[in-house]
Amino acid sequence: MEQLSFDDFEISKEIKKAVQEIGFEEPTPIQALALPEALAGHDIIGQAQTGTGKTAAFGIPVLEKIFIGDKSPQAIIICPTRELSLQVAEELGRLSSFMSKLHILPVYGGQPIGRQIRVLNKGAHIIIGTPGRLIDHIERGTLDLSGIEIVVLDEADEMLDMGFRDDIEKILRETPTKRQTLLFSATIPKTIERLAKKYQKNPKKLRVAQNIITAPEIEQIYYEAREHLKLELFTRLMDIYDLNLVLVFCNTKRRVDYLVRDLKSRGYDADGIHGDMRQSQRDKVMNKFRQGKVEILVATDVAARGIDVPDVEAVFNYDVPNDNEYYVHRIGRTGRAGKTGYAFTFVAGKEIYKLRDIQKYIKSKIKQNKIPTVKEMKTIKSGLILDRVKKVIEKNNLDKDINAVETLIESGYNSIDVAAALLKMLKEE
Ligand code: AMP
Repeated sequence: MEQLSFDDFEISKEIKKAVQEIGFEEPTPIQALALPEALAGHDIIGQAQTGTGKTAAFGIPVLEKIFIGDKSPQAIIICPTRELSLQVAEELGRLSSFMSKLHILPVYGGQPIGRQIRVLNKGAHIIIGTPGRLIDHIERGTLDLSGIEIVVLDEADEMLDMGFRDDIEKILRETPTKRQTLLFSATIPKTIERLAKKYQKNPKKLRVAQNIITAPEIEQIYYEAREHLKLELFTRLMDIYDLNLVLVFCNTKRRVDYLVRDLKSRGYDADGIHGDMRQSQRDKVMNKFRQGKVEILVATDVAARGIDVPDVEAVFNYDVPNDNEYYVHRIGRTGRAGKTGYAFTFVAGKEIYKLRDIQKYIKSKIKQNKIPTVKEMKTIKSGLILDRVKKVIEKNNLDKDINAVETLIESGYNSIDVAAALLKMLKEE
């Protein structure tokens, strides 16, 4: 596809200015596909996950629909979690920073409803919220959806997984049938197709799921490790790669709980999130992780959706995911914004077949490494440090540092000893 620029789209100068100010240089693939269709008023099924720029892909068309003079709700964005609702509200806030008098209101459970009602009464153009709380407002008569022009279902697959189908349908039925409906989802199972068929008009299907996979910044490695070796392998990799912020995926809630317990008992700073926890508990754990107060976040696939933590250094697939898309989704959490990330997958026994399937799906090979012995760990660590050294030599201007080393050499040390001493210091760090 030819590279587009934001100037190629029919968008207002206020939004173009905001895009420039935020620093988006060019549209991401999902934006390049979705913006022309959505701006032309078509319904969309966008297969895209967090990290692809999907929020702006629907956010810009939503903002374009708003008539500021009318203060009643004209757009509604339905999200699975409070966390995501807030992220979407934040991104829309940035995109609309040059649109004056625009009111965006996030509504979600856990926040006092009275306050939301007062703001709703004053008028809000765009409502972003979780299904349960939206229904609550509709039933109380505090949210009138008769003037809605555009509806967005964000992370629709997760909302269905969480049992929100009836709520979503109820909300959609409250909106006018002539509305535009944009649906975004990381996966498109049959249940989503049925929902789309019922509530969308000739939706355009857009897909960019592969995009994150091909990111060269993610180094993908797998290890064959039986269950009883996984914990030891995990701790060795944490040590070798000197990791400080990692996301670990398990296939079930119970495995999340057990792993958190085992990691804690080994002295690691670990916490877990899964679907059985209350939203407020999940938020608390997420905030700690985001602030770096927890180094290891262990999660199930569903609970981890919508998480956007910029500095995750590595993703561990403690279990091979049961769904190929989950693999893509999981590893997309690292290697963000040009940083290198690692994706380590632990494969036990027959799971190797699942991994073969995943490799076919992502159309690339995942490298196999052997579980390092304690002796090998030191050699691998040195190798990694030397790789880093090579990168620094290639990329950086080292004039000042060379001067410092020269001073040492002039006082009688040789350069090999200096380098070896620095390596020793780095390994002991
Ligand atoms: P999302 O998939 O919507 O969660 O977006 C992931 C991140 O990409 C967010 O931090 C966005 O602000 C950012 N982003 C969105 N569009 C672009 C773009 N065209 N260029 C660079 N970054 C973007």
